[in-house]
Amino acid sequence: MAKDYRFEKRKFMVGGIAVSIVLIYLVRLFFLQISTDDYKKNADSNAFLKKIQYPSRGAIYDRYGKLLVFNQPAYDIKVVPREVENLDTLDLCSSLYITPEQFKRTMEEMKDRRRNPGYSKYTEQLFMSQLSAEECSVFQEKLFKFRGFYVQRRTIRQYAYNAAAHALGDIGEVSQKDIEGDNYYMGGDYIGKLGVESSYEKHLRGEKGVEVLLRDAHGRIQGHYMDGKYDRRAVPGRDLTLGLDVDLQLLGERLLKNKIGSIVAIEPETGEILCLISSPNYDPHLMIGRQRGKNHVMLQRDKQKPLLNRALMGVYPPGSTFKPAQGLTFLQEGIIQSSTTFPCSHGFHYGRLTVGCHAHPSPLPLIPAIATSCNSYFCWGLFRMFGDKKYGRPQNAITVWKDHMVAQGFGYKLGVDLPGEKRGLIPNAQYYDKAYRGHWNGLTVISIAIGQGEILATPLQIANLSATIANRGYFTTPHLVKAIKGAPLDSLYRAKRWTGIDRKHYEDVVAGMRAAVTGGTCRMAGIILPGVEICGKTGTAQNRGHDHSAFMGFAPMHKPKIAIAVYVENGGFGAVYGVPIGTLMMEQYLNKKLSPASETMAEELSNRVIFYDDSER
Ligand SMILES: [Zn+2]
Repeated sequence: MAKDYRFEKRKFMVGGIAVSIVLIYLVRLFFLQISTDDYKKNADSNAFLKKIQYPSRGAIYDRYGKLLVFNQPAYDIKVVPREVENLDTLDLCSSLYITPEQFKRTMEEMKDRRRNPGYSKYTEQLFMSQLSAEECSVFQEKLFKFRGFYVQRRTIRQYAYNAAAHALGDIGEVSQKDIEGDNYYMGGDYIGKLGVESSYEKHLRGEKGVEVLLRDAHGRIQGHYMDGKYDRRAVPGRDLTLGLDVDLQLLGERLLKNKIGSIVAIEPETGEILCLISSPNYDPHLMIGRQRGKNHVMLQRDKQKPLLNRALMGVYPPGSTFKPAQGLTFLQEGIIQSSTTFPCSHGFHYGRLTVGCHAHPSPLPLIPAIATSCNSYFCWGLFRMFGDKKYGRPQNAITVWKDHMVAQGFGYKLGVDLPGEKRGLIPNAQYYDKAYRGHWNGLTVISIAIGQGEILATPLQIANLSATIANRGYFTTPHLVKAIKGAPLDSLYRAKRWTGIDRKHYEDVVAGMRAAVTGGTCRMAGIILPGVEICGKTGTAQNRGHDHSAFMGFAPMHKPKIAIAVYVENGGFGAVYGVPIGTLMMEQYLNKKLSPASETMAEELSNRVIFYDDSER
């Protein structure tokens, strides 16, 4: 019998194809599950399940070790779309307290790659985030019924005090921009928003870990891939210790209740910020978890702008708190000696120009000029400096003058470790040449001598001036974070920045600020806190409507422990709000408590309401 060679040949061919197919699958399997090089490329396939391990975020403490911010558990609901089958949507919705419409919208948005570029039906996708244990409990019990759904344990923040919301900031879900800017982040991750939560994000967040699990053909988890070779343990975030004294912060927030303004206190030697108050403020608890979005919108719409951190974003005329910086500049430039006297007849008069002042002995030298806050004295000083022949032209004089202001911390951002700091304004020659077409002199711009006119400063800059005077010639860039556990602080917050003005000139200005308390505009400070040698300077800044009340000071005079600035919008004379608030704050910080009389005064100040509606301004 002749063999059917054609049939044999076909059989061989069919066999060959089958062998090839098997080979191809083997090769594919090799690349999928064996080849380590290609693991990353195939990590999104259905053979693997990557489970993220979230690290605990660093805690935040105050300067005395009081816990301010810590973590509480929260739960995210995740879904692997490919694994979902026979889902009872209504049952799932009721156990998560959502409507079927919300379910449908969430699933659609998840699949929209513009919103969710990391979408893959084989990997875990975020379904809902930041549920409390309570919100999640029913769902968790029924989890076995919802194939493809998982519960991921996370942590969100919790606050020990209703205080310091602006300084602390908060955390929220990453934006698309965050994800694009740093490949550490994935959709659904949390990131610090504002405050130290934002500026120390990289220290606080730690490092995510991952478990790489292997599935079988039915999608069931078989165990760790390569015995956990590709697993990474999460690294916890670093704890922060702030320079903030939470009791001082609480008192400051109480004193500014029902008012718009700011208080900033600094430890002069180190530049550590002892309190950072911006009023009105808000309860940091509003920013926790799922309610954050809704509450954030509510605060954003509030006309009093509680989200604005006025301590470093509010720019104000410093008024008379600026005078010590002028005195120091005139002394250093040899424009005046401390014994130089200027006349004041209820103000500065030159031709038709008048800058008013109040009643006090005249003529007078520098120290009583600071103590009584004489406008005339500093106007004469600036007029003399801007007309001095050694500079040639007022344009050159203002350049020298501006350099002194900048060296004392004005006109530029100081570099505080918080986002959003404003630089204020110190005008230069070009500014006035443009405004006055080149024709101007000391008289034209005389109001800058008393911290008015174009001059703008933040409360942080005014507090920093006070620290600079307390230190007799240098400051350390103000900063909120005193220590990072396991990492060094930025060297910027260790360096001394010298102003270039001689120490002896500071001693004259310090004497003037001391005289303001013993017999000048800050006498109230000596009455409230008689046992401490306080140095102070009031400020009353003219405003379109009601004047702003300001105070700058430090204590004690020798070896100062605290330097402070108080700014109360529409508060009137500096002596009315600035001095008592500033002094009570010093008392709290130095004595760790208030005397009964001071407590009564604090309660009374706290109850006073000074809000004006916009039409009055
Ligand atoms: Zn005067």
